[in-house]
Amino acid sequence: MTEQYRPTKAVIDLGAIKKNLSAFQQKSGKAQVIAVVKADAYGHGVLAVAKTAIESGVTMLAVATPDEALFLRDEGIETELLVMGATPSSFISVAQQRNIIVTAVSLDWLSMAAMHVSPNLNRLNIHLKVDTGMRRIGIQVDEVDEALGFISDHDFAFKGIFTHFATADEEDSSLFLEQVSAMKAVIEKVDDPSVMVHVSNSAAAIMHREIACDAVRVGISLYGIAPSPYVGQEMDFELQPALSLETEIIHVKKVKAGEGLSYGATYRAEQDEWIATLPIGYADGMLRGLQGQEVLVQGRRVPIVGRICMDQCMIRLSEKLPVGEKVQLIGSQGGQRIFIDEWARRLETIPYEIPCILTKRVPRIYS
Ligand code: PLP
Repeated sequence: MTEQYRPTKAVIDLGAIKKNLSAFQQKSGKAQVIAVVKADAYGHGVLAVAKTAIESGVTMLAVATPDEALFLRDEGIETELLVMGATPSSFISVAQQRNIIVTAVSLDWLSMAAMHVSPNLNRLNIHLKVDTGMRRIGIQVDEVDEALGFISDHDFAFKGIFTHFATADEEDSSLFLEQVSAMKAVIEKVDDPSVMVHVSNSAAAIMHREIACDAVRVGISLYGIAPSPYVGQEMDFELQPALSLETEIIHVKKVKAGEGLSYGATYRAEQDEWIATLPIGYADGMLRGLQGQEVLVQGRRVPIVGRICMDQCMIRLSEKLPVGEKVQLIGSQGGQRIFIDEWARRLETIPYEIPCILTKRVPRIYS
């Protein structure tokens, strides 16, 4: 269900995504940019983002799950699609039919895939994932010889090899450098130049361009968000945040000094106060932990007061404002700006989580 009548919406600036993409395309030299559009393009809306990326020259999209890839195919996206997560046996022949690249995540997975490939269909396209230190999924470094041997003995289309960094966004580069050197040794074992090598996420693509290989997998920064405060501080180009979140005042009243408001009446007005109600709550992703966070009204910061409810929350105004007054929760208004990072700090989380937790009830509007 898409909301049409409530003024709460996430506005996605596709031009910003284009600019970010083009910055990565320039900075990454001959390495191509794989646009990571998993999790509904980090909450930005996968179809619009995928189309924008393709218009900008992207020739491969990466998703996390088989269903995410199928959704894109069903919507008519013909670009190369890589499923970076593990896929079950039931998906193998579907991947062959729909021309979806799957990731070989272990020796067992390779045996499973060999048993389930359908000889009458196109060969199964695989990228081999090597676990160089993330310790999540992937073939262990000391299993690579066996995996390569298995692949060459079977009728797979071996198209790529990759790893994923655990700490590319951190100042301490010790584990990152260990991963890089482990992967270098792995790459030397692959003597087929048509096999695409890709290792970098956003942080590595920003901070370590020298290791770009054939492609970089850019997720979070495609959407204009720095992977960590450290990278945000150190990076040598600007990202354009793509997502803003806005709503309007739907109710205004005066609360008298000493009166409490919202569930638990935990907030008490110190003096007579103008309190406005906003049509956004934790069922939209405006989590209760955001109590106290500021929003922008008439270009000024005002706080969310009282407990955030499921569908609504309250803000304290310095004067009476009309119903319909615009409120910016994330984004800019009158020269003031609230970045996603500010929400992340208040929620003691990483910026990645913020667009992902905005629920489906919040329409994504494209500009
Ligand atoms: N590659 C893999 C395997 C991932 O899991 C992710 C995201 O978590 C990415 C690339 C993109 O990372 P980022 O969003 O930090 O650019």
